[in-house]
Amino acid sequence: MDDGGIGAAGRTATPPRRAAAGEPPRRDLCTDCGISRSSDPKRCGRACQFIAPDYERLEARVHGRARDPARPDELHFGPFRRMLRAALHAPAAGAQWTGITTRIAERLLRTGAVEAVLTMAPDPQDRWRPVPVLVTDPADLARCRGMRMGYAPLLSLLEPARARGIARLAVIGIPCQVYALRALEAELGFERIYVIGTPCSDNTTTESFHGFLALLDEAPQTISYLEFRADYRVEIRHDDGRVRTVPFLKLPISKLPADFFPLTCRTCVDYTNVLADITVGYMGGEGKQWLIVRNARGEELVSLLGDEVVLEACGSKGARASAVKGFVANVARAAGGLPLRAMPDWARPIVAWLQPRIGPRGLEFARARVEMKAAETVLHLRRARPQRMRTMIPAHVWRLVAPYGVAPQPGEHARDDAGHDVPDDARG
Ligand SMILES: Cc1cc2nc3c(=O)[nH]c(=O)nc-3n(C[C@H](O)[C@H](O)[C@H](O)COP(=O)(O)OP(=O)(O)OC[C@H]3O[C@@H](n4cnc5c(N)ncnc54)[C@H](O)[C@@H]3O)c2cc1C
Ligand code: SF4
Ligand code: SF4
Repeated sequence: MDDGGIGAAGRTATPPRRAAAGEPPRRDLCTDCGISRSSDPKRCGRACQFIAPDYERLEARVHGRARDPARPDELHFGPFRRMLRAALHAPAAGAQWTGITTRIAERLLRTGAVEAVLTMAPDPQDRWRPVPVLVTDPADLARCRGMRMGYAPLLSLLEPARARGIARLAVIGIPCQVYALRALEAELGFERIYVIGTPCSDNTTTESFHGFLALLDEAPQTISYLEFRADYRVEIRHDDGRVRTVPFLKLPISKLPADFFPLTCRTCVDYTNVLADITVGYMGGEGKQWLIVRNARGEELVSLLGDEVVLEACGSKGARASAVKGFVANVARAAGGLPLRAMPDWARPIVAWLQPRIGPRGLEFARARVEMKAAETVLHLRRARPQRMRTMIPAHVWRLVAPYGVAPQPGEHARDDAGHDVPDDARG
């Protein structure tokens, strides 16, 4: 495992706390993807999801076409060839789910399709802190498995990778990292880049996340795993093997500081990593993993798993409209606070019991979450950075929120994905 040249004797160098040289970012809306630390930080202007993203152009370039209106799920999930429920027959130790993400990367290295994998490892002093690493030995990917909370400058290792002569690269990234990667891909000088994306939502700094763990459990230091499951429960695992699940609505959200979720993550417009070759998540998987295979390269990545993986059609149950409507009303009411504050304490156990039984499931759950996130984007930007709305909100986000009465107001200048103003009669 390599950190881009800092103390990297051989393949298993310990990743450093500071992943790469270069200045940390100075922008207010920034998740430190690594571009500002590169030799040409001015590229942020073209590369940033938070400045003036152009999803339609990049989707067409990466996938060969933009979202197809005849395939309604593409409005929510971006262009795709097929969506699947999936699980490895033998789940990998330490994986967030069954380990499909790191297993694909491992197969890419073992087959020689790539020379290195760019991803995150845990900081040796803090397992929840992500540290970018360039992996060349497939065995090192075992240590990268699992989810960490926070962001780290993944893309700051692109230039060191090129400097070492790496031409074929795989990148595992969250959506804000993948947007910048795709925006600059043509000028990076790699012969081939495979992109394995995961969905991402509600990220926060590693420091803030430790605060959350402390509220959640009496022994936060021994928590080894945490996941927000599709059955509306958070699963917590401890080093000693104890497992606890907590319904979403019983989480100590109201005790968190108002800025717990940074504005970046409350206003991020890409939940499902629409520019990856394959997205590996869980939201549409009803307890299994959820694959969104987006293009021919994504198919190539699935085929690397051979018969190690069980693939099934996705299911979809329930109706999301009332859940999304309630969420949107809460976000609007909370005016910058956290949406669950509006739920009275006495009602929480009842709703927590009902949610997994009557709430949307499978693809309908994923559609609901994407719509909720789209509404958050609009409402939080409107409150905190109205001047950013015109350039930051792509037309497809306005279409997602239109059924809930959220529409561009005068001056918000909605654009279509090609940058043209949307006429008033097409809004809402
Ligand atoms: C902050 C965050 C929020 C997420 N939210 C959702 C969600 O709402 N819905 C959903 O379906 N999926 C979400 N995911 C993805 C999900 O948690 C799993 O990562 C994914 O399903 C892959 O599981 P796996 O077993 O195949 O991964 P593994 O094989 O265990 O590999 C996980 C990979 O993710 C990388 N990684 C871990 N933490 C980070 C990080 N902070 N930044 C960048 N890369 C990281 C690891 O380095 C590793 O390569 C989220 C991921 C993150 C990091
Ligand atoms: S491109 Fe990356 S480093 Fe630059 S402002 Fe955006 S998130 Fe920050
Ligand atoms: S929620 Fe969006 S902005 Fe925040 S870390 Fe995830 S992809 Fe990046």
